[in-house]
Amino acid sequence: MPHDRRIYRLSPSQLSAETIAVTFAKTSRSPEPFDEIAAQLDAEKSSKFSEKWIVGYGHSSVAEHAVLHLALENVSRLAIETIEGNRLASYTEKSTRYQEWDPKAYVVPPELKGSPLEGEYCQTLDMLFGTYAEALEVLKPWSEANTPRLEGESERAWANRARVKAVDVARFILPAASMANVGVTMNARVLEYAIKKMLSSELAEVRQIGEEVKAVATQELPTLVKYAQPIAHLEGLRERSRAFSSRIDTLPNEEWCRLSKYDPDGENEILAAVLYRFGDDSYQVCLDQVANMDENARQALVDLLFDGVGEFDVPLRELEYSNYAFDLVMDQGAYFEFKRHRMMSQTVQQLGPDLGYTLPKAILEAGFEAPYRQAMRSAAEAFVKVEASMPQLGSYLIPNAFNRRVLCQANLRELFHFIKLRCSENAHFSIRRVGRGMAEKVQEVHPALARKLRVDEKESSASIAADFFEGLTESAL
Ligand SMILES: Cc1cc2nc3c(=O)[nH]c(=O)nc-3n(C[C@H](O)[C@H](O)[C@H](O)COP(=O)(O)OP(=O)(O)OC[C@H]3O[C@@H](n4cnc5c(N)ncnc54)[C@H](O)[C@@H]3O)c2cc1C
Repeated sequence: MPHDRRIYRLSPSQLSAETIAVTFAKTSRSPEPFDEIAAQLDAEKSSKFSEKWIVGYGHSSVAEHAVLHLALENVSRLAIETIEGNRLASYTEKSTRYQEWDPKAYVVPPELKGSPLEGEYCQTLDMLFGTYAEALEVLKPWSEANTPRLEGESERAWANRARVKAVDVARFILPAASMANVGVTMNARVLEYAIKKMLSSELAEVRQIGEEVKAVATQELPTLVKYAQPIAHLEGLRERSRAFSSRIDTLPNEEWCRLSKYDPDGENEILAAVLYRFGDDSYQVCLDQVANMDENARQALVDLLFDGVGEFDVPLRELEYSNYAFDLVMDQGAYFEFKRHRMMSQTVQQLGPDLGYTLPKAILEAGFEAPYRQAMRSAAEAFVKVEASMPQLGSYLIPNAFNRRVLCQANLRELFHFIKLRCSENAHFSIRRVGRGMAEKVQEVHPALARKLRVDEKESSASIAADFFEGLTESAL
């Protein structure tokens, strides 16, 4: 048998995703080269193998080698929350920052079709989309008047910058029923679980999407996703857990960004892990060594950790040894971006009007406060009516301006990434405020490492709130 190194692709244009997965699986027991294994396979043999080993014996990691690209169009942004609720997958979706929505680009959930509430539901959404279009009409000239042209900036670049600024504000009015497109790349193992979650959703739209995804995926993966069924215990868990819920909190105020848990010794744990990686002592010895360092030596070690790290370099994995949990309140527009950070653990509550809505300053400056407030009130009232007879469906009506609670846990490495990306100048001001708030909490407890977060010193969560918002928790009910 030849022993020359060979590196080559197994091309999805020649082999099905399932055959590629089986080819890789077979290398575990077969000494033959991959291309020869693949040449001996056909759809039937691959399916038989998958059925026995992957499905039957639970060797599920093999299914990770079968990758699909799925295009989902005209699904609600509410449904996208479930579709994108999988860590080990990739997504790109239609942006509320760079595109404008058609007046009828909203989903009517199947449960509501033909019900007595359908009329009011559609009227509310027509009103919200109408208000969104009117807001754009006034925000565009407001933005042009308030966006000075930069030196050397072309007319086109300036006009685009001004337009984005207007769209960034109008997006607060868009409801969760708004349709979006999302491109998804997933391996078969994640996909099977993603389908199970969709089939278990309380929303009929999501369950239907789950069935359709399963049917489309089965064309390429005849074996790997065919057993995806709803998760049986979820329904009971939801019901029983809701019975415990107390609902005594009032509107959030300065507690919108609470660091609810962190490792008090987190900085030392990270530094000790670095010594551990590049030395040969036990972890306890490294920890003792760091604990006994004077401030200068400790600072020198922190500096060394970041010395020469370029803008696009990823910080060392050892930053993962310190963890932080946050209880956050953010508007839905910010949450829609926040949820994309797959390395965090996130738990979000139902989208509704109870925590109030945000009122951007630009809305006032453009003279649009009254219609904006009226739209928020009408959406909240329609939510209450829909929820009373069809729980969970009211969320479709809720605009991006409304607040939502999100519990999240992340390590410092992920926080560095998140804060750098979401506190950058071109990030939306809503998520920039969230990123800032979290950075400030980390700075309080772990100042030596947090100083290495490269954030603009001129801005703070309070300055963003003052510069961009007239209100953060306006009551709609
Ligand atoms: C200016 C801007 C514009 C954007 N516009 C859009 C848009 O129009 N549409 C849209 O859908 N999104 C958009 N996004 C969101 C963006 O595409 C990311 O999905 C989002 O910021 C999450 O970032 P992340 O994937 O780096 O982070 P996380 O999910 O938090 O991941 C952290 C890091 O882990 C690594 N990682 C995680 N998962 C994988 C993986 N599967 N493969 C390889 N590495 C991985 C990467 O190093 C990643 O940076 C935009 C973001 C920015 C900043």
